[in-house]
Amino acid sequence: MNVLPDIAISPGVSAGKKTAMRSPHAGSGSKIFAELEGDTGNLSILAPQSRPIVWLATQRHAPEGSLVILFSTRPNRLDPADRDEIQRQLTEILPQARIRAIAATDWAADPFSKGSWCALQPGRTREVVPALARPEGRIHFASADTAQGWRGFVDGAIESGLRAAREIGETLR
Ligand SMILES: Cc1cc2nc3c(=O)[nH]c(=O)nc-3n(C[C@H](O)[C@H](O)[C@H](O)COP(=O)(O)OP(=O)(O)OC[C@H]3O[C@@H](n4cnc5c(N)ncnc54)[C@H](O)[C@@H]3O)c2cc1C
Repeated sequence: MNVLPDIAISPGVSAGKKTAMRSPHAGSGSKIFAELEGDTGNLSILAPQSRPIVWLATQRHAPEGSLVILFSTRPNRLDPADRDEIQRQLTEILPQARIRAIAATDWAADPFSKGSWCALQPGRTREVVPALARPEGRIHFASADTAQGWRGFVDGAIESGLRAAREIGETLR
């Protein structure tokens, strides 16, 4: 949804799709993988929206080290490249945590993504989803952003791929 306006489609897309593309979706948070020293145990920590880290969840843990995921809701709240700041914020919710390594990408700054997983603005679902999914002539659109279920997830990407493949099959018949 966020990058479609960057693609030139000739002779142009329908009015419905133009309206759907008028503003990006709200998904712009960070998902940071952090390898921590020692065994953190199996954790799920939720923090208020005002905090740079709003959720920590363990992926695996062992005495040799633990892997956790940290979620932030906005890119300007937590720079995924700023390890010292991530350590500082992590200490606020898990005082004993010591970061050994981090892995993350600023998807909001990536020109081929311009955001993270799709989170539509309130009230826009009925307008955006059918309009984005609608074929434009012989061009068919698959994207997790157009899924009926699991929108903004990998399952939604697969669902939309199946839908677009069916449409193309019908067109070819
Ligand atoms: C940080 C993060 C964590 C996530 N975690 C999970 C998770 O745990 N579980 C889950 O189910 N989902 C997760 N998601 C969501 C999931 O990754 C997406 O919903 C899914 O990958 C979308 O698939 P897609 O094929 O619709 O789009 P994409 O995978 O985004 O594919 C679109 C492609 O279009 C390309 N593109 C963009 N612009 C152009 C252009 N102008 N010309 C040519 N190509 C272009 C892009 O490079 C990209 O390869 C996460 C997303 C993010 C960002």
